[in-house]
Amino acid sequence: MVTKYNPESLVDRTNLAVLLHKRLSEAKFSIADQFRGEDVYELAVSSKITIRVFSSIVNGMCRGNGEDAIRVVAIYRRADGKDQFLLNETRVNRTGAMTDIVNRTVERARDIYRELVRRKNAKMVCRSCGAPTFLSSKGNEVCAETCWVKK
Ligand SMILES: [Zn+2]
Repeated sequence: MVTKYNPESLVDRTNLAVLLHKRLSEAKFSIADQFRGEDVYELAVSSKITIRVFSSIVNGMCRGNGEDAIRVVAIYRRADGKDQFLLNETRVNRTGAMTDIVNRTVERARDIYRELVRRKNAKMVCRSCGAPTFLSSKGNEVCAETCWVKK
């Protein structure tokens, strides 16, 4: 019998944080140090593209129910040093068995990786500057460097 994660339990919240850390470390993610509060894990997939996991872990414990879920995103580091979301957030709900929550998190990261590869192979890049494009809220593919904007 597998016990379900209980977000009311401080022990469960601590155990889930430990499991997440272990699983993400095995998947070669490391903790990014520029964030305060929540532990954020990163895996560089190229010199400019990173998969980022907002773990919901704060001080060694997952956040409580109703607070932010685990989120997985792909980030592009622009030439000006700013971060641009390439693939928007996929949320992982902290429900069910803890091993399932942890596996779902890594699976979402794999989905994002696969989508990055698909976009690269489909040559979804800016025709002017070659930077990757992302899908805007209006449904257009937009250059991640916004190269048409005069600097
Ligand atoms: Zn461009």
